[in-house]
Amino acid sequence: MNATDSTTTEAPLPDYAPIPPSAFGPAPNEQGYYVGRVERNLYWVTDGVYQAAFLTTQDGVVLFDAPPSIGHNLQRAIDEIANANGVSSKVTYLVHTHHHADHAGASSLFGKDVVRIGHEETRRLLLRDDDPSRPAPEETFSDRRTLEIGGERIDLAWHGSNHTPDNSIIHFPDHDALMMVDIVNVGWVPVYVVNLSDDIPGYLAMPATALTYPWKTLISGHLGRLGTRDDVVVHQQYMADLEASAKTALATVDPTPYFQKYGAVGNMWGAVKAYLNAVGEATAAPVVEKYTGVLAAADVFTPDVAFWLMESMRLNHGIGLQVHP
Ligand SMILES: [Zn+2]
Repeated sequence: MNATDSTTTEAPLPDYAPIPPSAFGPAPNEQGYYVGRVERNLYWVTDGVYQAAFLTTQDGVVLFDAPPSIGHNLQRAIDEIANANGVSSKVTYLVHTHHHADHAGASSLFGKDVVRIGHEETRRLLLRDDDPSRPAPEETFSDRRTLEIGGERIDLAWHGSNHTPDNSIIHFPDHDALMMVDIVNVGWVPVYVVNLSDDIPGYLAMPATALTYPWKTLISGHLGRLGTRDDVVVHQQYMADLEASAKTALATVDPTPYFQKYGAVGNMWGAVKAYLNAVGEATAAPVVEKYTGVLAAADVFTPDVAFWLMESMRLNHGIGLQVHP
């Protein structure tokens, strides 16, 4: 088969619903980033898909996450702000929300002398991953830790396993801001396996935990704009609607035809897959309809999120499972 044959046999790419304007943030500059103030000396940087944050202090710059997609633009953004304000642009501290490479893979750009700080599980997982682009933090914490750097207060907190075993919250009490990454994608739906979460019940609990903190601005680690408390509430409602829809689907989708067709020939996995796919589709359908035009890409990723949320409800809560009589 030559290249022409393969293109002619490919299925056309799907068309999706338009992205609501409310999902977008400020346009990136020619170098591909936008940097803006959150409050006073706390800033955020985005490339439109990933976000990082930094504080300029008397003891240098404290950087929060280092996504490789922003990469060298992190220092460009810091230089832009520091030069305008006549303060140091040297990154002296790097605080990690979690170990994932897509939020930490530019860490090595900041050299060996930067003080890296993260949860003790972040250290363990980065030692395990042994990735030269992500050196393990030397400074760690277990549940809570308050940092005082250059006169600025930063509260780190771990509330149990969620998106990853180590994913932690960064609260800036003097800047009315919270950094909570890979939980709420501001203005957008979660992706794939409930935002690629290792612990789905833990993931589902995090938005309510975030709302127990006082803050006005959420730095969510993803997409092109900052978040508000209302963004967290809309996300919670979306997840609650999916849970309610999954309960209905598990109670109403009849497994009989799938087990008759595939069970008859001994293909038990064929039967299980066809049944659970049907439950997942029934879970997603009303939620896609409700949130199209409200949360961006509701039609793109809700089917995946619905399926894995439904599986978590079966396996972690026993919903839809029956004990044989
Ligand atoms: Zn992650």
